Amino acid sequence: MITICPFCKPDSHASVFAFSGDIKAMYNLSPILPGHSLVIPMKHVNSLFDLNEEEISAFFSFARKVTAFLCEVYESDAYDWSLQEGTEAGQSIEHLHLHIIPRKPGDLPDGEDWYGKLQHSVDPQNKERIVLSESEYNDITMYLKGLWK
Ligand SMILES: [Zn+2]
Repeated sequence: MITICPFCKPDSHASVFAFSGDIKAMYNLSPILPGHSLVIPMKHVNSLFDLNEEEISAFFSFARKVTAFLCEVYESDAYDWSLQEGTEAGQSIEHLHLHIIPRKPGDLPDGEDWYGKLQHSVDPQNKERIVLSESEYNDITMYLKGLWK
């Protein structure tokens, strides 16, 4: 059985709200907090170590721009980045992606750790997991696309 990488599927292009060269930004289908998005290289690479210096530079430069954008749109002064490589580190999709999560005071209950929430967000057994419907997801993508300059 051939499994198609969800970030390489032909229709995944429709869910991109911003891109720069060969890097794209998409909203997370299971956001742990409002604004939770992903920055992903378009070519199928599993690891940061598969990118050359120029690609790394472009990747992080774009990620920083997307972070500033999301913090503005979601009125946040803080954010978390998470890049998970390897199953032990919680990597769920074998295609390099950086999570960007805008943060606000009191957005998670005291002591709640966002990393645990991130892990639970990919667990289909988790009943508290948010999975956006196709129309919710498309609305957010269109909204962000419209604001992106
Ligand atoms: Zn892929």
